[in-house]
Amino acid sequence: MGHCTYKINIHGVVQGVGFRPFVYSVATKLGLKGTVSNGTSGVEIYINATQLEFTEFIRIVTGNLPPLAKIDNIDYKEIDSLIFDDFDIIQSTDNGEKSVKIPPDMFVCDDCQKELFDPNNRRYKYGFINCTNCGVRYSIIKNLPYDRHNTSMSEFKMCEKCEAEYKDPLNRRYHAQPIGCFDCGPKLSFYIGEKKIELSQNECLEYTANEILEGKIVAIKGVGGYHLVCDATNEHAVQELRKRKHRPSKPFAVMAHDITMARSLACVSEIEEKYLISSQRPIVLLKSKSSIIAPSVAPNLSQIGIFLPYTPVHLLLLDILKRPIVATSANLSDEPLCINLESLRKLNNVYDAVLDHNREIVNGCDDSVIKIVANHTLVLRRARGYAPAHIKLPFNLSQQVLGLGANQKSTIAIGFDKDVILSPHIGDLDSIESVKYFASNINTLRRVYDFDPKIVIHDMHPSYESTKYAKENFKNTRAVQHHYAHILSVMAQKKITTKVLGVAFDGTGYGDDGTLWGGEFLVCDYKGFERVASLQNFTLLGGEKAIREPRRVALALLFDIYGKDAMSFDLPTMKSFTPSELGILYTAWTKKINSPLTSSMGRLFDAVASLCNISQVVSFEGESGMLLEELFDPKITDPYSFELQDGKIVFMPMIKEILLEQDSRVVVSRFFHTIVNIIEHIVKLYPLPLALSGGVFQNGVLLKLLYEKFPDLLFGEDIPPNDGGIALGQVATMMETH
Ligand code: ZN
Ligand code: ZN
Ligand code: FE
Repeated sequence: MGHCTYKINIHGVVQGVGFRPFVYSVATKLGLKGTVSNGTSGVEIYINATQLEFTEFIRIVTGNLPPLAKIDNIDYKEIDSLIFDDFDIIQSTDNGEKSVKIPPDMFVCDDCQKELFDPNNRRYKYGFINCTNCGVRYSIIKNLPYDRHNTSMSEFKMCEKCEAEYKDPLNRRYHAQPIGCFDCGPKLSFYIGEKKIELSQNECLEYTANEILEGKIVAIKGVGGYHLVCDATNEHAVQELRKRKHRPSKPFAVMAHDITMARSLACVSEIEEKYLISSQRPIVLLKSKSSIIAPSVAPNLSQIGIFLPYTPVHLLLLDILKRPIVATSANLSDEPLCINLESLRKLNNVYDAVLDHNREIVNGCDDSVIKIVANHTLVLRRARGYAPAHIKLPFNLSQQVLGLGANQKSTIAIGFDKDVILSPHIGDLDSIESVKYFASNINTLRRVYDFDPKIVIHDMHPSYESTKYAKENFKNTRAVQHHYAHILSVMAQKKITTKVLGVAFDGTGYGDDGTLWGGEFLVCDYKGFERVASLQNFTLLGGEKAIREPRRVALALLFDIYGKDAMSFDLPTMKSFTPSELGILYTAWTKKINSPLTSSMGRLFDAVASLCNISQVVSFEGESGMLLEELFDPKITDPYSFELQDGKIVFMPMIKEILLEQDSRVVVSRFFHTIVNIIEHIVKLYPLPLALSGGVFQNGVLLKLLYEKFPDLLFGEDIPPNDGGIALGQVATMMETH
């Protein structure tokens, strides 16, 4: 029988997921000889086999993958025959090409959970238990290939027992890079204020639990950063956290002990449960039930963000507490997530105690947030568990490209060949610290992937920090329009190669004509776009201020329609200003002082919220949209009127009708249907596949109505519709053309 030597290269998520021992066990069972090793571009296998044996080997390997592994493609060829005595796992090779996928951070697997609660196991209640099937990855990686010496675990020297497990190909912890135990691995420590208290590992957890039960606020180090934690059932504690964090109303996420507890706090559908218990452990926005949760956790909202423990430490802590906790990212407003004790100390007036550990966080990573709308996934923030993201494009890129995203909910992307790697959520670039963090994320991706961009794409907005960064640091740069990038992000992810009708609705983005766009209908392909329709322009009275004050947008609309007469209207919008403020704003409106024009759908939402007196001034982005959702009544279905004149959607008739209506439920419901109606109208004029993107589509009510109306619509279910997807769209403009 003809034995041949085959060389096999497997690409995908194949490192740090137990792939080599898996290959080893398959080869050994089939009695085949050869080697397997990690390279920077995936896993490399040499094997001596007959054709039949080879086919069988590939069948088993591809059919029974370890839980965290994912294969993108397999290349193989016959080579000159080599002689092997055995099947061996050999040292990693470094062939210079770094396209291997970095695995994300995962929750504790079932096997490790059993050990965690088994008093006879040597890792009983060890807060950093993990194996090749679970645990931290991305957050500890400094470099590829993913080997212990390239991670922050390099500082921990394995004890004999751990080393034996690490070296045994048949052990679950074979080459589990973050392996450790009480003797040799990372450890918890506990601080009251800034003073370290000498405690055993178990006492650290017990003291933390006690603080929380006493209504105190504890900073807890997790996988990608610190959380601020308090008892979610203690209204006083939650209010205190709001006060200290200067966060008046933005909802907090709640961590529940297990799915049963989650069900007691909120309605959980089958698909929502799947996400909650998945090893990615995202925050899932759910419909809250009346429960023991303190009212200040999510004021005035019927939805609540819930997640389950995502590290052994959280699991052990909640096992003691047996009650839900608030767990919100620890950061100063506008600054990045705290990832070490030094940055956390800036918040020392917010927390009372710290549950710390000594495994360095190399790459910060926030919690992921998702919501299920009409049985589809809506990703609001893509981070821990999912990031970095890998997107296969339906075409080749012309050169190595770096996309810098926009300014809010920043992410960055690198692209080469057909691959795009999208960073986790970085945050808003509104402070010096956050811009530094943005730069360090760029450097991380460049270092880990040994990546040198030939062209750098940025947003058209001249004053975005990302635009400035591009111009200051790179020679070959190119601006791409914001809403075009929004739509391309959906096309790229859905591998669309035809023209689409893109609907980009968001807060604001810089337009080709220098006005602020945000209610856009674009006919797009990868080569370019045509703006076929958009909301009629209106005034952002006070520029940036109008974003925080919906009442300013509503006021400008009233001035546009009624001129000075509007001043005397008996409306909540007017009443929210003093007479002198109204006078000043009227002058600003007539003289066009600090009054940029916009076609933003997000701002139109704000105007409606002000006219209904739902919100006049917001404390966080998207607040008015969330409050509008609360008032939607599915029984009210008739839209308001609008007109399309020369590609402009004239909505002033709707504003007039809204003023005549007393019931805000009616206004809100009819408003949502009007938007659906507008989209339907434009779709008839441009019968192309419909693609939606932009922050406005984070609105669950609107998205659900659209899914019902257009079941085939294209929507980026893996990538956020908000500006977190912009970097991907930017990269996709670099399609190779021949
Ligand atoms: Zn495990
Ligand atoms: Zn050990
Ligand atoms: Fe946007």
